[in-house]
Amino acid sequence: MKTIFEKSNGNSGINLTDKVTDIDFISEKYKRTNKIGLPQLSELEVMRHYKELSDMNFCIEKGFYPLGSCTMKYNPKVNELLASLDGFNIHPNTKDEDAQGCLELMYNLQNALLEITGMDSITLQPSAGAHGEMTGMMIIKKYFETLKENRTKVIIPDSAHGTNPASAKMAGFDIIEIKSNKKGQIDIEALKQVLDRDVAAIMMTNPNTLGIFEENVLQISELMHQNGSLLYYDGANFNAIMGHTNPKLMGFDVVHLNLHKTFSTPHGGGGPGAGVVAVTEKLKQYLPVPIINFDGKKYYRDYNIEHTIGNVKGFYGNFSVLVKAYAYILMLGKNLKYVSENAVLNANYLKEKLKQYYNLPYDEPCMHEFVITGEKQKEENGVSTLHIAKALMDGNTHPPTVYFPLIVHEAMMIEPTESENKQRLDEFVQTMIHIANECKTHPQDILSSPHLAPVKKIDEVTAARHPDLNYKE
Ligand SMILES: *Cc1c(COP(=O)(O)O)cnc(C)c1O
Repeated sequence: MKTIFEKSNGNSGINLTDKVTDIDFISEKYKRTNKIGLPQLSELEVMRHYKELSDMNFCIEKGFYPLGSCTMKYNPKVNELLASLDGFNIHPNTKDEDAQGCLELMYNLQNALLEITGMDSITLQPSAGAHGEMTGMMIIKKYFETLKENRTKVIIPDSAHGTNPASAKMAGFDIIEIKSNKKGQIDIEALKQVLDRDVAAIMMTNPNTLGIFEENVLQISELMHQNGSLLYYDGANFNAIMGHTNPKLMGFDVVHLNLHKTFSTPHGGGGPGAGVVAVTEKLKQYLPVPIINFDGKKYYRDYNIEHTIGNVKGFYGNFSVLVKAYAYILMLGKNLKYVSENAVLNANYLKEKLKQYYNLPYDEPCMHEFVITGEKQKEENGVSTLHIAKALMDGNTHPPTVYFPLIVHEAMMIEPTESENKQRLDEFVQTMIHIANECKTHPQDILSSPHLAPVKKIDEVTAARHPDLNYKE
């Protein structure tokens, strides 16, 4: 037997920098003849490099992250552990009979989400909010096609998230935009004016992106249904109402939820997500396949849906996101409704504290988020919302969503989420007050921020006009 010192130099013993000669099954023509040229760095140095990069990044683990409409809340770490349990680590091609536990979890999650939304049937397949929206709009399209009704238009209020018109358009509809009224809500008269037999649906967000609850929602749903049209509910930010009311009670026919926002999957950086879509009984036969069913003995992926719009995603969907959502729902149980209560309480607390310093365009009780503006600072001190956002970065705070919704000039959309404590909220208020004062006394300091971030202010015009997309040494 060879001693440890006689054995090859770790791994497979193949020296990657030389010509590979000892893998016989690879044809000569595919074998490397030149040196591979990998950087010669130790693992320790590589690790330090990436740690340094990640330290430059701002994240919820570092500080307050009130990015409105994005629900950047604390997501329990135990969910990650559960999602990575061995049994959940299945191959996408695993057959139903070998995936009974996973299917059972999905089935139970479907039922939990149906209870939470009040709806009658659901698909877990779509992989993002926007994907759920498009799925929902395709369902609505197919529904009218089956009824042989030619309805081409979808009504969307001007406060809507940009994905709403994009999804409806991609599903083949024309978009009719309607204005919000003085209270930041859908203007019923404006709605009546555009409501005709061509209208397939209205897409609503409730509470809307101003964080305001649409108090006329029942009247709107009656008007729509009388016209034979449907109602779509953008439920990306469901932490505003969970356990208190639901889209079914409000008269909606289709709803999507962002599991990666409300039901705890970290989503900064873009994924993975799950934009599940739930529908009422009359739309059940249009859902994408498969949905998860149970025949009393075994769980299975059900492809037998009469008017299905087809597949919207492969295999089991984004399964790990589903595990986290299910764990989160089970952990909280009946306390889910306190999630919403705290989210709403925190947002109202901040709104009341900040409205003396920044303009509040809609002085209404808010739900999970609210919108203030930097209009006063811009007019009086020449400091825009963009500068205020940059200054916040120096205060160990991620800027809120800015310049959205589009109907508010110099908008700052603030969502503290349910998981922040009062001390953290008060610190944020102090930082915002400090910035408001600095705008008056030292506007130059705000205009030149951030001072502490690893990357200072970038030239956004040049970046947009002449993007340099090549990596250089
Ligand atoms: C985040 C969000 C969406 C889109 O969700 P994605 O998962 O990012 O595609 C849609 N509507 C609202 C109100 C949102 O906040």
